[in-house]
Amino acid sequence: MRRYIEIDSFNPYEKYFPNRKLVDKDTLTLIKLLREDGHDVIIKPRNDIPVQYLFKKGILEFFTNPFYAYLSSIPTGIVLNLISDYLKKKLERKPEVTKKEIYNNIIIIDNSKNIFSNLDGKNFTKGEQIDLKKKKEKIQANFGQCLDLRSPYPNLPTPIFYEHKPRIVGWSSIIVDDMGIKIKDSQIIDKNIFRKIETGKIKGGSMTGIAEKSVCSICGSDYVNCNHIAGEKYNNNDCINHIEKATGVEFSLVKNPINPECLVSIVKNGNK
Ligand SMILES: [Zn+2]
Repeated sequence: MRRYIEIDSFNPYEKYFPNRKLVDKDTLTLIKLLREDGHDVIIKPRNDIPVQYLFKKGILEFFTNPFYAYLSSIPTGIVLNLISDYLKKKLERKPEVTKKEIYNNIIIIDNSKNIFSNLDGKNFTKGEQIDLKKKKEKIQANFGQCLDLRSPYPNLPTPIFYEHKPRIVGWSSIIVDDMGIKIKDSQIIDKNIFRKIETGKIKGGSMTGIAEKSVCSICGSDYVNCNHIAGEKYNNNDCINHIEKATGVEFSLVKNPINPECLVSIVKNGNK
């Protein structure tokens, strides 16, 4: 019997960026981990569309989105152990991340028995399985609605979200380059959010992009296809995924940015 692992792709921005097969960067990390361990990994749906990955610039992300792996003729324990050993090592260096949340987000499905379990050892009931599916569809639908909206300000075409959730809190014109994100001009339409900016609760911005072409610094090949993981060391060399071509998808205000500089202009131009 053929043994393989299927991983769900997920495009929250389907309506605006259709016909893309997307995984987030953390999902790609686990795909690489599984492939390196000798598993045959297929990214669903099965079609010829090349896999691209979503990345965030401006915020440290670590398994905030659910990861689904469907196992065919592979014992669940093997995959659970592989992933939890890897995450245990990573989490030692990230004391600020809550283990429970991440372990809830990693869901392993035994195809033959149709059992859903997460890294924490919890098995999902049928109802909970449906809820998981609905949650994904809702994110897609909400982003679709948001990205459909036209800015009421002709010079501020780009929506501003909050914490990468599908709710528009303002409009902006932004510049994204290698140095980061700069807000040229903006209007915050959500009074609560504006207050949070003024009181310093929201400290910066972050962008989601689709990496369309990126190269691995270790082997020089397409980062999607090789098994090196960005942030890991190989023979004392850091692996970096050099993104050569990307499309910006959305911009968000965030509480904990890597670089708080870009908020200055929002406060200056804000809710007059
Ligand atoms: Zn590589």
